[in-house]
Amino acid sequence: MNELHYQLDLLKAMNQKLTAKDKMYKMICDASNSAYLYYSFAKNEIVTMGCWRNFFDFEIREAKDMACLFEEVEESEILPLRDALFLEKSGELSSYIECKNKDGKHWYSFRVKVEYDELGTPTDKLIEITDITKLKNQQNELMYMAHFDYMTGLYNRNYFITLLGAFLSKAENNGCSVSVMVIDIDDFKKINDGMGMVAGDELIQSFGLFLKEFSDDNVIVCHLNNDVYCIAAYDPSGVRSVEHMHKAIQGRTKSPFVLMDGGQVNITVSIGVALYPEAADSALELINCAEIVMFRCKDKGKNCIQYFDAPILNEFLNNIEMDNKLKEAVFNNNFLLHYQPQFFTGDKRLRGVEALVRWKDDAGHMISPNAFIPLAEKNGCIVPIGSWVVEQSIKQYAKWRKCYGIPFVMSINISAVQYNRDDFVNKLLETLEKYNVNPNEIEIEITESILIEDFEKVFDKLKLLRQAGVRISLDDFGTGYSSLSYLKKFPIDTLKIDKSFIDTVLTDGATRIITESIINMVKALGVESIAEGVENEAQYNYLHAVGCDMIQGYLLGKPQTSEEIEDILRRIL
Ligand code: C2E
Ligand code: CA
Ligand code: CA
Repeated sequence: MNELHYQLDLLKAMNQKLTAKDKMYKMICDASNSAYLYYSFAKNEIVTMGCWRNFFDFEIREAKDMACLFEEVEESEILPLRDALFLEKSGELSSYIECKNKDGKHWYSFRVKVEYDELGTPTDKLIEITDITKLKNQQNELMYMAHFDYMTGLYNRNYFITLLGAFLSKAENNGCSVSVMVIDIDDFKKINDGMGMVAGDELIQSFGLFLKEFSDDNVIVCHLNNDVYCIAAYDPSGVRSVEHMHKAIQGRTKSPFVLMDGGQVNITVSIGVALYPEAADSALELINCAEIVMFRCKDKGKNCIQYFDAPILNEFLNNIEMDNKLKEAVFNNNFLLHYQPQFFTGDKRLRGVEALVRWKDDAGHMISPNAFIPLAEKNGCIVPIGSWVVEQSIKQYAKWRKCYGIPFVMSINISAVQYNRDDFVNKLLETLEKYNVNPNEIEIEITESILIEDFEKVFDKLKLLRQAGVRISLDDFGTGYSSLSYLKKFPIDTLKIDKSFIDTVLTDGATRIITESIINMVKALGVESIAEGVENEAQYNYLHAVGCDMIQGYLLGKPQTSEEIEDILRRIL
């Protein structure tokens, strides 16, 4: 009897222990945010636990009811889900599947585990169902960020390079070609500055949206950066060829882009094209080649298309070499100045000298400024070079003035990049003070390209210089916009008539009429005239006769070294 009591107590204790464990497991399940389904094969009985009710409004009691779960997911997911849930059919131990809910907004994961007895017969199955919508959205977001550009919805640079790489492999296998176009909106900075960044962003989006229309299985469109896009076309032919796309772009840019605030923007674009396999065989190189020729379009006046070819590549490589060499020359200060004398026409008295920079390369060759100033203006070297020229020429003038006591004019060429720097005027005036030079004896030569920039800024600087006594000369007159209105608008002392006029003035009637009227009008405005590039007596006599004030040219003096100029000064003494 005692034995029986003992057995009964033991059973009770075990039961209590079991109930406590059940409670514990239930709490864990409830706290997990997942729904659980436990199936006993022996009993064909199903127990649901956890947050089942948060997921489903039905209960499942036996195996056949599990089919209800299929109605919860999208149709295409049903078969894979069935395989995952009934994994015991294939003898698997566990499975995992992610399914989209039939509302298309939610994602569930199903994790299934089956246990088997020693004979391999399934005994128990546990299914865990979790709402992974948040996780999926985050994954999608990350995926989007990895592939697309947020602003335009086009492919981003990195993913585009991957896709272009795939195009290239396919093209290599099939012996096809791929075209890569880099498209850049002309003068975007001006639009952005003028209309504001919001409008600028809107334009980038709108134009991107337009380009997106080209995309299909064989055409990918990407937003490279800022206002630059790139299109790659696999085996381009028919309507997806570069010519067709170019035509469509031209057609679209004929009408303005309308912004949200009703504003309208007209744009033009510059397009560079590189073809696989001719130009390069890797995605990055092709984009680079297309970019190089796109910049060529910019140089040629924008709003055009340019194809990459071998001569362009060679020129580009030469430019890179030159670019590096020029930077090295700036570092080592491998420059020197020559001076070309200017004379009064009447008595051929020395009026002044123009400082002309030369680059002395490693082999001792003099490189003409025409060969490196344009590059220096592009790569920024003009700033240190220009500062050096200003300092050196003023220093040289101070020395001559002290040594020979003869006042004349030192003319210094100033490029637009240099002039536009905020510290230009101050630095020039500081240098004059440093060398104790009378500003009246210094002249800066500027070109019309400076005057067409921001009027106020240009004018204020000229006024400051003029007030300090520095003379202003308008260089190369006749090559640019040639508007005499500048002489009225800006405080200019001297006008230099370009050599191209002097070259033909004796042989071309129209040039003669223009030259004479320039000289007369300038005189009426109280501005002096200098003729540049006077090479022979006939030109000199003619210019003297029509009243040109001053002469500069090989006839009376080539650009020469400081020692040679000193010979001239000594002769004057
Ligand atoms: P520029 O200011 O028009 O200078 C006159 C150029 O014409 C000089 O060439 C000079 O050597 C050349 N020249 C003068 N008389 C004659 C002539 O009778 N016949 C011929 N065939 N040529 C003549 P250079 O020294 O090669 O300078 C070329 C250009 O480089 C200059 O044209 C100027 O625009 C630029 N430059 C020169 N030095 C500087 C500088 O220090 N700073 C800047 N920004 N530009 C400079
Ligand atoms: Ca000049
Ligand atoms: Ca000139």
